This record gives sequence, structure tokens and C-alpha cells, in this order.
Amino acid sequence: MALADNSIPAQTDSPEARGYNRTRRWLEVADFAGGFAFLVILLVTGWSGTLRDLALKLAGQNYAFSVFLYLVLLIAIGKALGIGLDYYGFRLERRFKLSTQRFRSWLWDEVKGFLVGLVMATIVVELLYFTIRQWPQHWWLLAWALFMGLFVVLAQIAPVVLFPIFYKFEPLDNEDLRRRLVVLSERAGTRVRGVYRWKLSEKTKKANAALTGLGRTRRIILADTLLDNYAPEEIEAVLAHELGHHFHRHILKSIFVQAAITLCGFWAANWTLHYAVDQHMFVQLADFANLPLLVLVSTVLSFVLMPAMNAYSRFNERQADRYAFESIVSVEPFISSMNKLAEQNLAERVPSKWVEWFFHSHPAISRRVAAARAWGREHNPSPQ
Ligand SMILES: [Zn+2]
Repeated sequence: MALADNSIPAQTDSPEARGYNRTRRWLEVADFAGGFAFLVILLVTGWSGTLRDLALKLAGQNYAFSVFLYLVLLIAIGKALGIGLDYYGFRLERRFKLSTQRFRSWLWDEVKGFLVGLVMATIVVELLYFTIRQWPQHWWLLAWALFMGLFVVLAQIAPVVLFPIFYKFEPLDNEDLRRRLVVLSERAGTRVRGVYRWKLSEKTKKANAALTGLGRTRRIILADTLLDNYAPEEIEAVLAHELGHHFHRHILKSIFVQAAITLCGFWAANWTLHYAVDQHMFVQLADFANLPLLVLVSTVLSFVLMPAMNAYSRFNERQADRYAFESIVSVEPFISSMNKLAEQNLAERVPSKWVEWFFHSHPAISRRVAAARAWGREHNPSPQ
């Protein structure tokens, strides 16, 4: 079998793929810069204090309720300012013929996203200011522990509670694929509890697959846009990659990494709040008008750490890829699935170095394909 014969386009991307990805990146940067400016303006102008006073008045001076009202105001204003960019993102997907979603369906997703975000933010922020009020000395340690607890619960319930708000899922009914999965799972020494068909086609033409959940909710989800258009061997290669994540315990490891970073974040937040109080920006730590400052600390931290987090993610992806190479008979279906994915998702096969370094959670497709070819040459030399 020839290994490098086929008509796979070489090391270039179409102008279309380049244009699409460049605009998406600018959108991401604009979104970040806009959010950053919004928080700074709230603090510098004292408008955050105005919002706090309004919330306290509306809540009849009840602290917990006024925290909630303040949060509603903040998120609503933020959304109103950011909706233009969101809409532009939706138009971009339509312009490149990637989206299959109608405007109304998109708008409904926006509403649901807003409400889900509000519920989660309310839980986090109420807990935050509760701990600050009760334990002003060590609030950040306690808040960190609570926050991580929430994070684990969220990771566990996400596949059964959160994702179904936006997408439909159903157990995979395909005997051939099931059989392949059983063989792969036995090799991995595991029993993955479920494989689900993820109805992505209602929203997009793009394909995707993922390992999600913790414990009893651990599952592999495969987009219908992938299941319906890929050969069984190609789907098997994707499944093997996802099982690689499971085998190497990537979700658990990521939670530990997250825990360490969040601890630093809470320490930095505490330091910043104390500094702000010393500078008479706020009368006390529990003044919730300082929330934009807390968000700013976490924003800056995640921005600074983005290259490191993405490098860690790419490391995990390479590990899962290697696991897949070892599990499947030939690397060819893996290579063809990668090329199909790149085509279908309008991905850049060869992004510039710094773009990959800063933005990409997955290695560039050209690298993944090259790694597969190298593996194939080493382990299944072509009998030519
Ligand atoms: Zn992966």
C-alpha cells in the first residue's frame, strides 16, 4: 500500500480558510479587548459604584439580593454591548456557508446562553461574596475549595444537563461501530459507558467529536456530521483518539491543572482587593462594586496563561493521537479523517507559528498528519 500517494493538498491553505480563520481570530481579540475595556471603564469612572447603589436601593438594602441585581445589570449591559460582535460571528459562519442555523434559532441560543450564564454567575458570585463577608481573612482559600467543588460537579453534569440545552443527543445505534468500539475499549482496559450521536447538523456543517463527563456521565460524543459522512474506519480512528484521552485520564489531569491555576488566581484576587481597599477605591472587601476588578484579575491571568494552557492541551492531543495510531490497524483512515475534518471545518492545516502557539488547543492538522505518516513508516513499512 502506498503511503503518500493521494491527492491531499500539500502545505498550503485556501484563501478561504485563511480569511475565515483570520476574521475569527480578530473577532476573538475584539471580544477580549471589548470586555477588558468595559471592566476598566466601570472601575475608573465609578459607574460600578453607581450600579451598586442602584442595586442596593432596588433590593431594599438586602445584601445577597442586591449582589444578584448588580450582577443582572452588569451582565445585561455587557451583553447589550457585545451582541453586535456575537451577531457578526453568526454572520461569518453563514458567509462561509458553515452554519445551517436560522436567525431565530441563533437568537434563541443567545437567550438560552444568557440565562445559563446568569445562573452560573449568580451561584459563583453569591458564594464569593458570602465567603468574603464571613471569612474576610481566608475567604480566598475557602472560595477556591468551593469553586473547585462546583467545577467538578459541573464537569459531571454537563453532558446530561448543560449540553442538551443546546443540542440533541441520542445513543449511537450502529452495530458495526459498536463492535469496533468494544474492541477498542477492551484494548484500553476500560468500558466507556456510552457513545452518543450529537446532532450538530441542526446548527452547523462542521464536524466534531469529544470525550466528556466524569464517572457515570463519562461518554464519547460524535457529531452526526461526522457519522454520516465518514467511512467506518475513519470514525474508528476518531473514536480511538477520544479513547486515548480517556486512557490517559486527560479530563482528571486538566481538573488538577485548573485547580492549581485557580488557586493562584484567588490568591492574586485577594491581594488585588486588599490593595484596592488600601488605595481607598473601595471602603471594604465585601463591597461588591469591586466585582469588575475580580473579573479583571481572572481575565488578565487567563490571557497571560493562554499559550501555556494551549501548549498543555496540544501535548494531550498528541498523546491521544499516538494512542490512536497504536490502536488502529493502519494510520491511513486517521490521515483521511484529519483531511476531511480540515476541509469540512475550513480549518487551517498550516497556521503560522505564532498563531498555533497562542491560539490553538490542537496541533496543526499538517503536523498531526505528518506524525501519523511517520508512525506508519516506522511500524507498518510499506511493502513496495
Ligand atoms: Zn482530542
